[in-house]
Amino acid sequence: MDAIVNGRIHTLADGALEYESSPAWGLLIDGQRIERVLWEPERVRGATEVIDLRGRTAVPGLIDAHVHMTPTGLAHFSIDLLDATSIAEVQAILHREAALRDEGVLFAQGIDETWLEEERLPTRHELDAVEVGRPVFLGHRTGHAFCANTAGLDLLALKPDTPGYGMVAGEPTGILSDRANTLASGRVRALYHGEVGYAVVFEAAAQEAIAAGLTTVHALEGHDEHEDPAVRALLDIQTDLPLSVVVYYQTPQAEAAAALGLPRIGGCMACWVDGDFGPRTAALLDPYTDAPAVTGTLYFSDEELLEFFSAAHARGLQIAVHCVGDGAVEQALRTYEQVLAEQPRPARPLASAADHQARLRADHRHRIEHAELITTDQLRRVREAGIHLSIQPAFNHLWPHDGGYPSLIGSDRAQRVDPIRSILEAGVPTAGGSDSTVTPLRPLLGIHSAVNHSNPRERISASDALRMFTLAGARIAFEEDEKGSLEPGKRADITILDADPLAVPPDEIKDVPVVMTVVGGQVVYTMPGLTL
Ligand SMILES: [Zn+2]
Repeated sequence: MDAIVNGRIHTLADGALEYESSPAWGLLIDGQRIERVLWEPERVRGATEVIDLRGRTAVPGLIDAHVHMTPTGLAHFSIDLLDATSIAEVQAILHREAALRDEGVLFAQGIDETWLEEERLPTRHELDAVEVGRPVFLGHRTGHAFCANTAGLDLLALKPDTPGYGMVAGEPTGILSDRANTLASGRVRALYHGEVGYAVVFEAAAQEAIAAGLTTVHALEGHDEHEDPAVRALLDIQTDLPLSVVVYYQTPQAEAAAALGLPRIGGCMACWVDGDFGPRTAALLDPYTDAPAVTGTLYFSDEELLEFFSAAHARGLQIAVHCVGDGAVEQALRTYEQVLAEQPRPARPLASAADHQARLRADHRHRIEHAELITTDQLRRVREAGIHLSIQPAFNHLWPHDGGYPSLIGSDRAQRVDPIRSILEAGVPTAGGSDSTVTPLRPLLGIHSAVNHSNPRERISASDALRMFTLAGARIAFEEDEKGSLEPGKRADITILDADPLAVPPDEIKDVPVVMTVVGGQVVYTMPGLTL
């Protein structure tokens, strides 16, 4: 493609606000890069391939800073339980699907007891009752619990003293949380991923991403296994995928990431600092309101986390860790502060830091993922330590602050859950993401959720939300010189929308159709039936 013209183009150049009131008209593209921004209509000479937007909107290619491509891709092949509303319905779905699927494990994703009539997960015996004659596994929507039938438990062969291995009266329940869940979900996804095929699964996730307007995803992949084959496979096929993938290896072993040549480490799974609110494993500074003896779970001891961060930081890696509760944020923050004090890096990038490794050493940009509950004082310390946040606004869309939170953590803390505006006002660099499959791989839903936060005090403007999914997403991955805005010399990563998300009524942002996705000057997605 040589040019796009006749559009309403939000360049986000310089992060200035003028782009909102006076968008650009066109872009000239030279190969993979933007050559020139056309602010006024002009005759484009010499261009052979020109796309006429006919007044449609173009924005910098959207970036999702927190995606799990394995479950996202697997969701196209596994059994979907997102819409199940009772255990009987779960059983019926499994029974029906078992008849349609070849031998091998039955793997279902998306179960969430908060949407089941019984308000609990099915037990091993209830899954045995489906009588499919093979191992059955159910992955929780949030990734923080796992269910297995008896054959499934036998296959996993976990030790019953593993933390989170559900037992009642000396009998396994088949419900796994905590470490048992991490081990089980890692192993089962790896097994199923291998069965379906790595390339097929990642391609399915990539196709879903480009149809949603994404040009870059940060893929947090793998589990605690050394030399994880899925991570290796993703690195091998990365350049064949239709969008850019920034890989984070979810292991606390710095040498495992370094062995794959990765400058980044961490994410969720084996890098979970805590769990989630639902199973009361999110680590809190003060106890749960409905369980005064419970403050959640820290999966690392202080010593283990320090060892993880110290070794990764010493190797020049960027670190990312999942912290949901303020107790987990506290442990991660304290550990980051200690490591940064012991091994300081200059606060600003080196002047001539063309080399990525040199930049990483100079400017850590370590990340905290989620930060759903974070205090004002913690936000100040996060900013001072140069830590970046990666948040998922659609959590609030699916689990609003006034839904289940007041009974779990009390109404005061519920008011402070997913504090998007407070985070931006604290001046903390913050990228947006989906945590797909926890929320859908739909950046426009993320932008919509930030603008329409259930707590009016935490709403942000559509342009601030768009920046979280473009400029901030580029910056958190050290890619701001390449991506995040539409400027001469940057990559021609462009998302074309049927309407302007900065101008439509706020409650319509999520429904704005993506009409075209352009990655490095190449059209990789066109809305079916679209004629431009
Ligand atoms: Zn995650």
